[in-house]
Amino acid sequence: MSGFFFAHSADHNKPLKGKAAIVTGSTSGIGRAIAEMLAEAGADIVLNGFGDAAEIEKNRTALAEKTGVRVFYNDADMSKPAEIREMVEKAHEAFGRVDILVNNAGVQYVCSVDKFPEEKWDQITAINYSAVFHATKAASVFMKQQKTGGRIVNIASAHGLTASPYKSAYIAAKHGVIGFTKAAALDLAESGITVNAVCPGYVLTPLVERQIPEQAKEYGMSEDEVVEKIMLKNHAIKDFVGIEDIAAAVLYLVSDAAAKVTGTHMALDGGWTAGTPANKF
Ligand code: NAD
Repeated sequence: MSGFFFAHSADHNKPLKGKAAIVTGSTSGIGRAIAEMLAEAGADIVLNGFGDAAEIEKNRTALAEKTGVRVFYNDADMSKPAEIREMVEKAHEAFGRVDILVNNAGVQYVCSVDKFPEEKWDQITAINYSAVFHATKAASVFMKQQKTGGRIVNIASAHGLTASPYKSAYIAAKHGVIGFTKAAALDLAESGITVNAVCPGYVLTPLVERQIPEQAKEYGMSEDEVVEKIMLKNHAIKDFVGIEDIAAAVLYLVSDAAAKVTGTHMALDGGWTAGTPANKF
């Protein structure tokens, strides 16, 4: 199997020209930045996620006009396996191929495990964890049939590598995504399909903005204190990671340069998982 996933694209500014990409949870935050960067690189895009229908349509047409690629929207609920399968099948119907899958959709809920609502556990593990399996299974069937390889990137988290209080479902799900990434990479390697994870630290998106008041309540502190003392405490680089930083890592992982990178993760977490910052003694 050739590692030259993009060999047929002569346009160096559009290395993904002729490729089709699905980005789950791309109506907001990190997923939206990833979809935009892949479209700029020439890939046709399936957007997915929730939100205001008029706003989603406005963003879809704007992205298509700006980049010249085909952009479709699919409203699959990532907690529903049948809808995930249908989304992948419709992407294949629309573009005649599926080359790139970015499993990005995710939700969070912050609460101590002894009070953690069962329905929140089920929702978080379905969207953040099981959906990664269902989409990978469906997309890899088409990628194998095409015999031109494929790229699967799972947006895990620094919380796939280490834990913090009050996030049991999210942390279990993200650790599961990293394990699944390794296992799927082995199963699909002979077909030229790579499977990798990206592990962001804190990125200031609606998912994180929502947590600031929730955590302020749980810890009994002000919102500024939550940012400084909880969120950025473990970042050695005392800043949020940017959505473009994550998108650029995904662009690398779907590039030819990453043809031999599989079954691993890239942490973009300001040094969080490297160790304890400022612990000099
Ligand atoms: P966000 O809330 O801005 O976006 C989440 C996206 O997922 C939205 O498009 C939303 O509509 C979609 N979504 C939610 N439930 C869905 C469902 N059932 N079906 C389909 N789509 C659904 O969040 P974000 O911060 O951009 O998060 C994106 C990913 O990055 C998530 O997997 C998250 O866990 C991960 N992540 C985020 C951070 C961070 O600090 N923001 C850090 C590490 C990992």
